[in-house]
Amino acid sequence: MTDNTIAPRSRKVRVLATLGPASNTPEMIRTLFQAGADAFRINMSHGDQASKGEIVQAIRGMEREFGRPTTILADLQGPKLRVGRFAGGRVELTHGSTFVLDQDETPGDATRVRLPHREIFEAIEPGARLLLDDGKLVLRVTEHDADRIETLVEVGGPLSDNKGLNVPDVVVPMAALTQKDRSDLAFAIDAGVDWIALSFVQRPEDLWEARKLIGGKAALLAKIEKPAAIERLEEIVEACDGVMVARGDLGVELPPQSVPPLQKRIVETARRMGRPVVVATQMLESMIQSPSPTRAEVSDVATAIYDGADAIMLSAESAAGAWPVESVAMMNAIGDAVERDPAHGDRIHFTVTRPDPTTADALAEAAKNIAATVSASAIICYTSSGSTARRIARERPAVPILVLTPKLETARRLGLLWGTHNVHTRDVDAFEEMVAKAKRMALRQNVAKAGDVVVVMAGVPFRTPGSTNVLHVVRIVGDELKGYKGQAEG
Ligand code: PGA
Ligand code: MN
Repeated sequence: MTDNTIAPRSRKVRVLATLGPASNTPEMIRTLFQAGADAFRINMSHGDQASKGEIVQAIRGMEREFGRPTTILADLQGPKLRVGRFAGGRVELTHGSTFVLDQDETPGDATRVRLPHREIFEAIEPGARLLLDDGKLVLRVTEHDADRIETLVEVGGPLSDNKGLNVPDVVVPMAALTQKDRSDLAFAIDAGVDWIALSFVQRPEDLWEARKLIGGKAALLAKIEKPAAIERLEEIVEACDGVMVARGDLGVELPPQSVPPLQKRIVETARRMGRPVVVATQMLESMIQSPSPTRAEVSDVATAIYDGADAIMLSAESAAGAWPVESVAMMNAIGDAVERDPAHGDRIHFTVTRPDPTTADALAEAAKNIAATVSASAIICYTSSGSTARRIARERPAVPILVLTPKLETARRLGLLWGTHNVHTRDVDAFEEMVAKAKRMALRQNVAKAGDVVVVMAGVPFRTPGSTNVLHVVRIVGDELKGYKGQAEG
């Protein structure tokens, strides 16, 4: 527990940056953090576990240096379908030609390649489409048997080793966790990540096993990228701790024009249910090559922020592109600009989140309203599990939410949540101490200054999870730091 050496973010939306070859080093991670990355995604689809362990260590080292709890999300590959390899690494498929997928281990050529997923040979049907490389190439199934699928190339193009395959027209009976996922999950939990993301979730049941394997040691995020998941969206959101609008695969499995309405629906559902929601993929895609984004990309990022998404994500832009720092800085700048728009508050409340009939929700709603009425500078909340912080963030108050928690894991997990500034600090035992500490921390963390009013939320008796029942409005005089100056505290 040390004093922060960098100011809290002024924006509410969180920036989640994927790490990869362009950004894996401790120096780059530090630079991305300073440019505005609040949370880091480690994509388990690429690279080996040992190098991922080093990345986790680098982030934790930086966390100690800045005294700011930092969020790490390990993204499991899931049952992602891929073709095998080619002799020479790459071929060109021509429109109108025949292309075969089989189970032969020999490297492929322009007429055939291995498809190492037996389930597809059983489930596929004539007339079904096979989409390759994010839907860039389209094959139409003409005939098939237990170990061979013959297709007609409807849209050709270059195809290289291990490119992804989507089969949107049939339900492939695949387990949600592959062998690789199980190994990666165990590794990630061991390494101490804060969130585990599950890819290609189709049913709420898919989350149950992951939940069991995680054993409470991390939060669970469901990536929404299958049509089947949309059909059971509410149940899936209920069964996880957070969701991702995974527009890459979603826009391959479904027509691209159906993605914006779905994005709005997923964000709204997650917000209503109080789960953080990440909007992901192609947000600043052109910045993989270019130091500045297209206007359309900036507008897309802004739309996600106006929709009230908790976090916006960078994929290849920060992981493998030529401009990782500029991409993060751009996300940061868009967040600041949109949130400075006086209309931002109204637009964000277009999604109505009525409080659940609980004390915590009643107080969270009241905290937001009181803060607005008395022009408070911040809402300060004491929480152990993070639940109170999530319920306040769900209200999308206009002021910063300063979260004080005795659990470092809680502070880290909350890093995907809208509008919270999370501080790991000692618990309090008495009412006066609670109020005094809230005022002190508001000053130290720069969310309020002398003369400001703050709204404090806590639970009495103290140190009792689930007891949130106190809402206290207090003015900071300015001498709260006397006797504490120089003393390290949270
Ligand atoms: P991926 O997930 O990058 O792991 O495929 C995100 C998406 O599909 O949008
Ligand atoms: Mn995906």
